[in-house]
Amino acid sequence: MVSEAANAGIDRVLWTEAEIATRVADVASELAADIRRLAEPAVVVGVATGAFLFLADLVRRVDVPLAVDLVRVESYGDGTESSGRPRVTADLKVDVAGKHVVVVEDIVDTGNTVSCLIAHLQKKGALSISVCTFLDKPARRTVDFQLVGGGKFYRGFECPDSFVVGYGMDYAELYRNLPYVGVLKPEMYSKKTDN
Ligand code: 5GP
Ligand code: MG
Repeated sequence: MVSEAANAGIDRVLWTEAEIATRVADVASELAADIRRLAEPAVVVGVATGAFLFLADLVRRVDVPLAVDLVRVESYGDGTESSGRPRVTADLKVDVAGKHVVVVEDIVDTGNTVSCLIAHLQKKGALSISVCTFLDKPARRTVDFQLVGGGKFYRGFECPDSFVVGYGMDYAELYRNLPYVGVLKPEMYSKKTDN
């Protein structure tokens, strides 16, 4: 796998497919136990596109009734930095009023995206808002977002302050299909993208 990663332009692998599967199963058990205790319905909201693999792996392991939906949030960024002004560009289909919402993200970095989504879901009348992120980069946080109604923060791994790709996460819309997470080789940063 190491040479495959090198061929894909990956400098180093941070988490292998097996490590990801183990950790996602643990997070899913914790989430399932919490959802099982709720009296009102739960809606799991994935943030497209980066969270699609984590969302799919997670909900398959949460063996309690729940609704699944997607939102798209874009911040017009430049390469590996986001602009810090995200907005919802594709909204939910499911009505979240009076329901417990779990936002599923690929990475919480500055916190801008999650903060924007929390405000959005609150306006729609969500009963509680939790955030379940595959990766967390606490060193880069600039927005101290507040969870709502006793919502919880779940995370897969703490991520070092490097730009990572794979397991749903892209650079210039590529690398999302890698089954592992790695840091790109510096020479791969030649094109521009958003997140
Ligand atoms: P925020 O700064 O708003 O917390 O994060 C915004 C979004 O930027 C994340 O949801 C993710 O899509 C993207 N992002 C942040 N760090 C990285 C990274 O290391 N790699 C990739 N591919 N995307 C990232
Ligand atoms: Mg994202």
